[in-house]
Amino acid sequence: MDHFLYRDGILHAEDVAVADIAAQVGTPFYVYSAATLTRHYTLFTEALSPLPHLVCFAIKSLSNIAVLKLLGDLGAGMDVVSGGEYRRAVAAGVPGSRIVFSGVGKTREEMRLALEGGIRQFNVESEPELRALSEVASAMGTTAPITIRVNPDVDARTHEKIATGKKDNKFGIPISRASEVYAEAAKLPGLQVIGIDVHIGSQLTELEPFEQAYKKVADLTLRLRSEGHTISRLDLGGGLGIPYERSNSAPPLPHDYGALIKRTVGHLGCEIEIEPGRLISGNSGLLVSKVIYVKNGEISDFLIVDAAMNDLVRPSMYGAHHDIIPVTEAKAATLPHAYDVVGPVCETGDTFAKARPLAPLAEDDLIAFRSAGAYGAVMASEYNTRPLIPEVLVKDDQFAVIRARPSYEDMLNRDTIPLWL
Ligand SMILES: *Cc1c(COP(=O)(O)O)cnc(C)c1O
Repeated sequence: MDHFLYRDGILHAEDVAVADIAAQVGTPFYVYSAATLTRHYTLFTEALSPLPHLVCFAIKSLSNIAVLKLLGDLGAGMDVVSGGEYRRAVAAGVPGSRIVFSGVGKTREEMRLALEGGIRQFNVESEPELRALSEVASAMGTTAPITIRVNPDVDARTHEKIATGKKDNKFGIPISRASEVYAEAAKLPGLQVIGIDVHIGSQLTELEPFEQAYKKVADLTLRLRSEGHTISRLDLGGGLGIPYERSNSAPPLPHDYGALIKRTVGHLGCEIEIEPGRLISGNSGLLVSKVIYVKNGEISDFLIVDAAMNDLVRPSMYGAHHDIIPVTEAKAATLPHAYDVVGPVCETGDTFAKARPLAPLAEDDLIAFRSAGAYGAVMASEYNTRPLIPEVLVKDDQFAVIRARPSYEDMLNRDTIPLWL
């Protein structure tokens, strides 16, 4: 559920007409709903209660500091995968004690930064990383709280580019080698082992792969405890999928996911962490764009819009579907017309949808791509020297630009011509 609904035929973000935002900030832009972000975060905290838990928002899905502050103020933790994301969490006022650091390639500088800020835990992904972190923490006269990310070798049954829990993926250590690696970690002076971490992939539309993975984590908890390790915290990762195509998909709900967690690991007396990104941010955002031209092609008609693959890369990168809706609702009796919806970038891959049935549209009409809050703005680039588009946050009847569109001057001034040229 989200808070993007038609009122009297006009698309609203909460109590604000989307067209009013377009008139003020220009298109294209991203718009996020505070009420939707809040609701999705709350669904997870409710689903895990009464287990002791922390819901750590995966910043990589939507990293605007205003959004992080909103979630942080509700009590959310943050899952970061780089020093940059760590700095964003801190800038949003989230204390280190609620930040977890994931990722396969943490540098020593990033480790130092996070240790100085009193990081809650590192999710360590390899043996060389264990050794590096122990050295860094020892040199600082401290110990680093860690979990080790295990790769449970389950098939997440999602897109191959976002599956992370099979044995041929780069993530974590094979669960079959866990005893050995935990034994090494226990010997390293700069580390304090506190738990286990697992994350099997993103946009999972079934609970079954989670169930397989979490059962393996439960078995591993008992085994590692019997080998003398303290396992008091389980980080179960993120990955719950969202319905990108509303007409024909119904992925599992946070409530059922929570019930599964209680059933598989609830008896172990561990504090539970989860790291949802997409399910909190995905349906909390729209990408709003304007039709530049309607071009009649030989085979299909093209809707050429002012957003492009550099603004929202998911369709061209993953073949992803985003529902597209008109900002002014079509009259009930209108017959849909099939369009290829494309952007202005000079690549055939700059295609959002092929033969998509939409109400007939004309030049200057506004459209909205749904479910664009996650992996949208964060993956944007300036390809074709197109400025990064603004982000807007709506709360009730107020809205604010939370990242402004850069000027062309700002963009061009980042390049320098060497004196010798
Ligand atoms: C990407 C990622 C997440 C979030 O995944 P979603 O599908 O957005 O929920 C959580 N944890 C880790 C380690 C990740 O890499």
